[in-house]
Amino acid sequence: MIYHSLQAIQNDLSEGKISCVTLTSDYIQRINDNKEINAFLEVFEEESLQRASEIDLKIQSGTAGKLAGMVIGIKDNICYKAHRLSASSKILQGFESQFSATVVERLLAEDAIIIGRLNCDEFAMGSTNENSAFGPVLNPLNKAYVPGGSSGGSAAAVAAHFCLATLGSDTGGSIRQPASFCGLVGYKPTYGRVSRWGLIAYASSFDQIGPLTHSVSDAERIMEVISGYDEHDSTCSSKDPMTLSPPTTNKGTIGYLKSTLESLALDPEIKAHLSEKIAELKALGYTLKEVDFPHLDYLVPTYYILTTAEASSNLSRYDGVHFGYRSDNAEDIPTTYRKSRSEGFGEEVKRRIMLGTFVLSAGYYDAYYTKAQRVRRLLSETTTTLFNSCDFLLSPTSPSTALMLGQNYDDPTQLYLEDIFTVYANIVGIPAISLPTGHHSNGLPFGIQFMAPAFKDEELLAFANQIMNT
Ligand code: GLN
Repeated sequence: MIYHSLQAIQNDLSEGKISCVTLTSDYIQRINDNKEINAFLEVFEEESLQRASEIDLKIQSGTAGKLAGMVIGIKDNICYKAHRLSASSKILQGFESQFSATVVERLLAEDAIIIGRLNCDEFAMGSTNENSAFGPVLNPLNKAYVPGGSSGGSAAAVAAHFCLATLGSDTGGSIRQPASFCGLVGYKPTYGRVSRWGLIAYASSFDQIGPLTHSVSDAERIMEVISGYDEHDSTCSSKDPMTLSPPTTNKGTIGYLKSTLESLALDPEIKAHLSEKIAELKALGYTLKEVDFPHLDYLVPTYYILTTAEASSNLSRYDGVHFGYRSDNAEDIPTTYRKSRSEGFGEEVKRRIMLGTFVLSAGYYDAYYTKAQRVRRLLSETTTTLFNSCDFLLSPTSPSTALMLGQNYDDPTQLYLEDIFTVYANIVGIPAISLPTGHHSNGLPFGIQFMAPAFKDEELLAFANQIMNT
């Protein structure tokens, strides 16, 4: 059986048509039959089947949690106690999590079944999943293409029905862009809505964990469980967990960001589709207005200055002493650091550590880091103004459909430009969702992105649900 929503699974479970054990073994079977996709770094076969049988008993006794029947995979930058954790990097060789991320604890408490760890770009740096020490992930919709990144394994696993849903992390688009490339729903919550405790830090003031699913309602159900205050993460908001909002009939005002739709980077077919979509939404009774967004060209540079600066600091802990890999060629303390890091990190991660170190260095700090912080502030102010006149913002998710494997791999600047429409939400901390919206003549899907003011997660998801169901 192929399922597209938890509701359908729970209906069949309650009617006794399936059990968690049969469901989980079906997923495991599909993973093993399609190993070439390379979505999983590890499948917890025995453990997930064991849990499935425990949850079947709970269902029988009427004590099962909200997510009973949800088989979920987690990106391999999220800690799960006593399980391996690699961030798709050689530098974490042999490392095992000492504790579970808050999101993992919350999923388990509601009886989700965690089926395995998912491949991703090393330390979540990338847009194609090709920066993994464990090989690229193939797009299940067409294996000559990438699934997107950095949560490429998370997207491929859902698209290939290896599990119902997955968690990814989104620092600059890593949930939404792979969702767009694989025809899925990808949700990046408001910064601080979901605890980052137990998420391997890339750029701490940008990172958020969120779901990749087939439906908006599954994204809502996961958010209901994983969101909310956590004493372990000081950047986590004190707000209560998200509640499921009743279906809305409020149509709201949608502002479409003119410069994103006119961007030369945007594929002409995606552009034409989005213009039609705007007309369609108007016909459905939504108020649409064109809004100016003059800062588009500053987004990618601002993002890459600030995130590499944060990354260079966050990744300094991988020193060959505290975690994972230590070079066999080390002779003393300096060579332990130098050689372990040189051999343990991949090319892209090293490029970003060096870029980040550069923008933070004396003499360049003001020219790059301070200036980028100022642009971030300006963008926040612009965002407040934009949301004075509209409830939601609309833009493409990504300028193109999935790239071919190897395309642009040697041209990092070109790949960075792929993030042009997604990084904005992370720079200013607002929630953003990518919804599957159409198919290109090349056969591949692409997404449309909606954003809302900070902490309007419920409203954005309810609105997205409405859009998907019209
Ligand atoms: N593609 C972006 C980058 O390479 C986004 C990554 C992410 O969101 N983790 O940084």
